[in-house]
Amino acid sequence: MKAVRFHQHGGPEVLRYEEAPEPELAPGEVLIRVGACALNHLDLWERGGLERVTFPMPHISGSDVAGEVVASAAPDVATGRRVMLQPGMSCGRCAACLSGKDNECAQYEALGYLNHPGGYAELVKVPVQNLVPIPDEIDFVTAAAFPLTFLTAWHMLMTRARLKRGDDVLVLAAGSGVGQAAIQIAFLHGARVFATAGSDDKLERARSLGALEVIHHHKQDIAEEIKRLTNRRGVDVVIEHVGQATWSASVRSLARGGRLVTCGATTGPNGALDLRALFAKQLSIQGSYMGTKGELLRVARFFFAGQLRPVIDRTYPLANAADAQRRLQESGQFGKIVLEV
Ligand SMILES: [Zn+2]
Repeated sequence: MKAVRFHQHGGPEVLRYEEAPEPELAPGEVLIRVGACALNHLDLWERGGLERVTFPMPHISGSDVAGEVVASAAPDVATGRRVMLQPGMSCGRCAACLSGKDNECAQYEALGYLNHPGGYAELVKVPVQNLVPIPDEIDFVTAAAFPLTFLTAWHMLMTRARLKRGDDVLVLAAGSGVGQAAIQIAFLHGARVFATAGSDDKLERARSLGALEVIHHHKQDIAEEIKRLTNRRGVDVVIEHVGQATWSASVRSLARGGRLVTCGATTGPNGALDLRALFAKQLSIQGSYMGTKGELLRVARFFFAGQLRPVIDRTYPLANAADAQRRLQESGQFGKIVLEV
């Protein structure tokens, strides 16, 4: 099969479109002909290399996949079935998995990360538990753009922050995958949504997804704007994934009893915290990593019913994965960048 692989860490130029061995199915696994694979920031971390993580080489990235079943070593799975894939892989038999918290499994990882070659390829294999059948009217590009970011945003808002109707929610970086998903989910659940972005065009698009007020994060002070817009109260929930560059503003934007949930650190890993503000304002700071298989099936119901829809920024042919990653790296996108296979 054709795949995009890297044999060493580096910039986008290390990605090679080349011949690779086809995956071999073990019992319980299913082979998918990839129709589309969406990019995530994780792909850039993998390609660049991470401290204390040894990636098997050559490596195939890609966590967000939609396609068609072409072979099965699991019972009751028909070939020809159109599916999107659960991006979370877990052991399926530990206490966390059996309690429905598979994203707390010690072996939990994203498809395409370490032990499970991903969707930058013509074929990918997954355990049968990771199949999510999709309706005929949803195309592969749109389906591939859905799982990881909507699962992540759902887990952050609904499970970690326990979002309630009427909450004020600040979503950072509206144009990111998590940002566009979080705006839609929060709006759908009756929140008043504030969103930040780095261009007027992106701010306008954030409004069209459901943001009531928008903040230009290069021209305006996020915390000051939030105070002004909320009559100095602050917001109940902050959806944070930018990291170092916005951390302090995110904490200062919280109302008393506010919850900050973070799932990423794109601009750097360090964030300070004034402990006096933490206890006096009774703040909660929560980490979040992807979500459970059950949660993806839940949020997918809104997708299939037309109430949530991933925003597609641009598509590229698989062979041009390096150009696609450059666009993500430069943060020029609004929504998901997708490879067509
Ligand atoms: Zn487990």
